[in-house]
Amino acid sequence: MSKRQFNFCAGPAALPTAVLELAQAELLDWQGRGVSVMEMSHRHPAYMAMVADAEAKLRQLMDIPANYKVLFLQGGATAQFALLPLNLLGQKTSADYIDTGIWSAKAIDAMAPFAEAKVVASSQSKNHLQVPSQTQLELNADAAFVHYCPNETIGGLAFDYVPKTGSVPLVADMSSTILSEPIDVSQFGVIYAGAQKNIGPAGLTLVIVREDLLGQARDDTPRPFNYALQADNDSMLNTPPTYSWYLAGLVFDWLLAQGGVSAMAQLNQAKAQTLYQAIDSSRLYSNNIAVANRSKMNVTFSLADAALNAQFLSESEACGLLNLKGHRSVGGMRASIYNAVPLEAITALVAFMQDFEQRHWA
Ligand SMILES: *Cc1c(COP(=O)(O)O)cnc(C)c1O
Repeated sequence: MSKRQFNFCAGPAALPTAVLELAQAELLDWQGRGVSVMEMSHRHPAYMAMVADAEAKLRQLMDIPANYKVLFLQGGATAQFALLPLNLLGQKTSADYIDTGIWSAKAIDAMAPFAEAKVVASSQSKNHLQVPSQTQLELNADAAFVHYCPNETIGGLAFDYVPKTGSVPLVADMSSTILSEPIDVSQFGVIYAGAQKNIGPAGLTLVIVREDLLGQARDDTPRPFNYALQADNDSMLNTPPTYSWYLAGLVFDWLLAQGGVSAMAQLNQAKAQTLYQAIDSSRLYSNNIAVANRSKMNVTFSLADAALNAQFLSESEACGLLNLKGHRSVGGMRASIYNAVPLEAITALVAFMQDFEQRHWA
C-alpha cells in the first residue's frame, strides 16, 4: 500500500489519519453489533445516541448557545444558497449580500427566483484582493438577512471582521472556515457549511440557526429542506447522511483531543504564516491579497512565469504534495490547509517550493 501523502485538496479535503484509521477499525463491526454503522437504521437507539453525542461535541467545540438549533442536512452549501431565501424571507422582499468572489456570487445568483438580492458591497473593483470594510456596507434595514462568505475558498480571500448588521440577521457560508478558529456564534442568525472542507466527508451539510428565525419558511418549501421541520425532527425527517454524520462525530472527537478550536486556530495561524512567509520572501511566488484578508485555510499563489505551472504541479505531486492546482477559474496554485493538514505538510511544501525556485528561477 502506498504511503498517505500530503493532501492540499480544496474539497473534498484531507481527513485526520487517526479518524480514518478508527473508521477502518470499526467499519465492519460497530460497537460489537456485527454490522457496519452505515448498515444501521438511523432510528436505532445506538445510532441516535451517537449523533446526539456528535451534536453535543460540536456545541462544545463552537460554544453554540442554547437558543440555536444544529441541523445535519444534505444538499451541500449550494443547496443552502436557495434554501436560505425559502426559509428566511418571511414577508420580506429582499436580502443583502456582500460579494467577495465566486461563492458569494453563486449565493447571489441563487436568490434570483425568490426575491431581490441587493449587493451592498463588493470587492470586485479591487479584483477580490481586499474585502469591503464595515463602513462600505450599504445595508438595508428592511432586508430579510445579510449574507456573506467569511472565507472565499477559491480566491483565498477572508474577512478579518464579522460584519455588524444591527437587527438584521447575519448569515454566513462557513464551508471552508468552520471549526478553524473560535467564533462568537451569537453574532450570527445562520451559519452553514458543507462538511467536505473542515468537518468530514461530503454528503453532510451543517446548518446552525437561531431559533427565532425558524417557522417562517414559504409554504412551497420542500419538507426535507424546511429548517423548522428538520429541527422538530432532530434532522431525521427523512434518512440523513448516516455515515458522513458518524464520521463528522469522529472528527469532533479528534478536534476535542487536539485541544479544541482555539488550539486548532493557533496551529492554523502558524501553518498559514509559514506558507505566506515563504511566498513573500521568494521572487518566484506571489500572493497579492491584502495581508489582513489573506485566507488561513486556502493559500493562493502564482508563479512569476506561468510557463512553469505544469512543471511545478508534476514535481510537487512526485514529492507527495497533492492537489496544489488553483481553481480553474483563477489559475495559479492553491494550498488548502484545513484542520486535518498537519504542520509537517506545510514544512514539506515550503521546502519543495524553495528547492523548485532554486532550480528553475535562480
Ligand atoms: C465548497 C464550497 C461551497 C459549495 O459546496 P457544495 O457542497 O459543493 O455545494 C460553497 N461555499 C463555499 C465557501 C465553499 O467552500
